[in-house]
Parts: sequence; C-alpha cells; structure tokens
Amino acid sequence: MVELEDLPSVGEKTAEKLRDAGFADMMRLATATPKELSVKAEIGEGVAEKVIEAARKAENIDFETAYDVLERRKEVGHISVGSKGFNDLIAGGIETQAITEVFGEFGSGKSQISHELAVTVQLPVEQGGLDGECVFVDTENTFRPERIEQIANAFELPVDEVLQKIHVARAFNSAHQILMVDKINELIQSGTNVRLVIVDSLMAHFRAEYVGRESLAVRQQKLNQHLHSLQQIANTYNVAVFLTNQVQAKPDSFFGSPTKAIGGHVLGHASTYRIWLKKGLAGKRIARLVDSPHLPEGECVFKITSEGIVD
Ligand code: ADP
Repeated sequence: MVELEDLPSVGEKTAEKLRDAGFADMMRLATATPKELSVKAEIGEGVAEKVIEAARKAENIDFETAYDVLERRKEVGHISVGSKGFNDLIAGGIETQAITEVFGEFGSGKSQISHELAVTVQLPVEQGGLDGECVFVDTENTFRPERIEQIANAFELPVDEVLQKIHVARAFNSAHQILMVDKINELIQSGTNVRLVIVDSLMAHFRAEYVGRESLAVRQQKLNQHLHSLQQIANTYNVAVFLTNQVQAKPDSFFGSPTKAIGGHVLGHASTYRIWLKKGLAGKRIARLVDSPHLPEGECVFKITSEGIVD
C-alpha cells in the first residue's frame, strides 16, 4: 500500500497535516479538489495540486477502459427492503456507488424507508443486505431507535447488535451537516464497515437557512459541495447514499404532477435514482421511479406496517 510519505511532493510535515485533516487514504486524496485540500489541510493550493496529482498517479486513475468500468460495476451491491414490488422497481434494491433520492409530501414514508434500510443493510448478502453498518444523518430529529427495534425483530436480527451498527449523527444546521461528511470519511477510514449513508432530510436546513431569491445561488453552491462529497464517499468506498427530500406545491401546473422535489437542478443531476413517494388509498403508498440511468420508469404499491415496508 502506498503511504502519504511515499508521494514525491509530501514531506513529513505535510503528511501530518493531511492525516489530521482526514486525508490519510490515497483514494480520498486522489478525488479531492485542490481548493478543498488547501483549505482543510492548510497547505498552499499549488502544493495541494501536486499532492493530488501524485495520489492520482499512485492510484492509477487517469483513463479506464470500459472493461475496467464494467469490473467496477460488478462490485455494486444492493440493499433491499421488505417489499418485493419496491425492490423490483429499482432492480434489487438501492445501489452502492450511487445516490438514491426519495421525495414526497409529509407522511409519504421517506423516514420509514430510511429506518428499514438502516436495518436491512445489515442482513447477509444472500438475504438482500450487505452485511454492513449504517450512518444515519438526522436533520429533523426523526430517527427513532424504537422503530429500529421493531424492524430488526421482524427480520429476526439481534436487536442490540443492530442498534450498535447504526451510527446516528444529529445535524443541527447545514454547515454542521456538511462537516458531518468528513466525520463519515474518518469513521470509514478507522475501519467501520459502513455500506449505507442516509441523510434524512437532505434539504430541511438548507431550505430554512437560505431564504429568499438572493440567497439561492449560495445555497445551491453549498448544496453542490455537500452532494459532491457524498458522491465521493459512495464511489471511494462502494457505499450506497440514500437521501430523503421534500416537495413544494406547483400551483401553476395544469398537467403532470402538482408537486415537485426541491433542491433544483443541482440535486436533480446529483441523484442517480429518484423515487417519488405518494400517499394512496387505505394507507397504501405508491413509489414511482422517475429518473434512472438504465432502468425503465415504473410504479409499485407498498404498505408501511410495524414490521416495516411490505407489499
Ligand atoms: P415522511 O415522508 O414524512 O418521512 P414517514 O416516513 O415518517 O413520512 O411516514 C409516516 C407514516 O408512516 C405515518 O403516517 C404512519 O402511517 C406510518 N407509520 C409510522 N410508524 C408506523 C408503524 N409503527 N406502523 C405502521 N405504520 C407506521
């Protein structure tokens, strides 16, 4: 394995700064931007550029052949839920190396699916999980360990162990939420087998803090940076990122949906999969896949029960 000190432009002092700033991992370094690295590690931008370039050489990330890309795609894992319809809609469950976003009105089931995934990611691969741990970034105080207990029992998993493998991070504002991603990097680098990162809800703080048209550009810039670092975790460590998002009413809509996801194009482009959740009749929920790079659009119906998400 290549160590920081092995890179031509890195002396002992720089190596120490890089480690302190959470850039011990070569891949993490190779995928950083010079600006990010220079700010976080307190080194000049010129040095940062050189270090990143050296890390990229060490990791061999210039061109890849399509064969290599396919090999990497073979590593992609899926995390399923208890509803077959939902799993089929997204070809087996939510994917690692990708961002999946669910959006929908209040009570449509976004937090419930998040809780379910926090448990099912811990199942063995044969049973639709990834034998892994979960980070739950909670921005609206919606995380409920009691709900995890119920779902873990339904899957016949040892409750205490399941609870221990969910790392809950309460984010108090958007700046805190953004910083949390660095902590996730540290957690993974320290050897925790994180395979799923949930942010419930992604936009709550951004929406509340950046009010008015004049602050929109800044908000989108921060959001972009946040999504970029989440994507980086997904790619670098083969992790699934699951985001929940709110909707806003579109009063001027004659055709199509009267609601739309917030977050604008920045979020629209960052999410690999977008799923729209709607409330149906008699407590049923409808999930509609509205955006995916290689799956057809489609719908399924599921129910929320005390045992979790079912058909
Ligand atoms: P949101 O989209 O706002 O995150 P939630 O995921 O919190 O919505 O979904 C809330 C809904 O989940 C409630 O309306 C309720 O119908 C259902 N629900 C929550 N807990 C349970 C439970 N233990 N058993 C059955 N249904 C539940």
